[in-house]
Amino acid sequence: MTRPFVFPGLTTRVVFGHGTLEKVPDEVARLGHSRALVLSTPHQEAEAQALAAAFGPRAAGVFAGATMHTPVEVTDLAITAFRSLNADCVVSLGGGSTTGLGKAIALRTGADQVVIPTTYAGSEMTDILGETAGGEKTTRRDPAIRPEVVVYDVDLTLTLPVALTVTSALNAIAHAMEGFYAPDRNPVTEALSRDAMVAFRDALPVLIHDAKNADARAKALFAAWGCSLTLGQVTMALHHKLAHVLGGSFGLPHAETHAVLLPHTTAYNEPAVGDLLKPIADTFGEGSAGKGLWHFARSMNAPLRLADLGLTEPDLDRAADLAAKNPYANPRPVTRDGIRQLLQQAFDGQCPA
Ligand code: NAD
Repeated sequence: MTRPFVFPGLTTRVVFGHGTLEKVPDEVARLGHSRALVLSTPHQEAEAQALAAAFGPRAAGVFAGATMHTPVEVTDLAITAFRSLNADCVVSLGGGSTTGLGKAIALRTGADQVVIPTTYAGSEMTDILGETAGGEKTTRRDPAIRPEVVVYDVDLTLTLPVALTVTSALNAIAHAMEGFYAPDRNPVTEALSRDAMVAFRDALPVLIHDAKNADARAKALFAAWGCSLTLGQVTMALHHKLAHVLGGSFGLPHAETHAVLLPHTTAYNEPAVGDLLKPIADTFGEGSAGKGLWHFARSMNAPLRLADLGLTEPDLDRAADLAAKNPYANPRPVTRDGIRQLLQQAFDGQCPA
């Protein structure tokens, strides 16, 4: 008998392909808008300006100040620009940082969002917003946060640096991994996550030697879509809690932190979830999901040690305390000692036992 499930439906329109950037002005018009504020990081400002030029008079302007972890001060500046330019929607061109800024504007102004993701972080299909105020990062879920349209243009990912390609993909795999045991998983998230594992496994070994390989880029971006959709529909657990603690309270870089933690959080939960992580073990080999992911990450030259990301050994006790306080629901009970041990393994970068 099929496991009972609820499929929450899809409210985000998705356009996927090569060269789809040129469809963005039509997508904005389709939403009934005529003054788009284009968002980017400073690093991608030239691409944002070119997109605004393609909009012609339907571009209200460019705000190129997006930055990691969505600080509220930056959101305030962007909203001032949004209002003074009489913008009626936002177009976010970039990775999770730019998507986060667009979501923060949408939540406060009701603006519609068109998102053009250029990494694999997976924020675009979700109703989740993480923001930083006074040095503290908080996360919330709200239907108003979920973008109206996502335009995936494979061509824009050709410039993604190899190191970020790998860590961003492992960030996406973390969404799928926790999706496999999420209590509210559904057959769509399971099927897309399974396909995503295979697509990333096949694409990354090509991309680390040939970053502009269009077929491998298409596979990887398709995989990122599946992982993002999963993140947007199901409840996350220990892995995302730990990444949040290390990013929010210790300032560790987002994608790299997910990449280092992933084999260890997977191995922590693996004994408690029956065969739910078997799609990962089957895809990455080594007879277990945690070990398979560690070996895959190592073969892709991903960072393996929290020690290399700026964490110090004395930080581990405080991180374990923070993670064990108000823990997320998790398949295996979260104990302070269990987390401390997991963090030590991730700090040292050993293959999980
Ligand atoms: P990022 O958006 O900060 O991008 C990293 C750098 O790479 C930036 O300088 C960016 O301009 C550059 N870049 C992006 N795409 C590029 C490309 N194709 N070519 C060249 N350079 C490119 O990094 P990220 O890992 O995508 O996002 C991290 C942020 O996303 C974090 O703040 C995290 O909390 C958030 N996030 C949120 C969710 C959610 O659902 N709310 C999900 C995942 C990540």
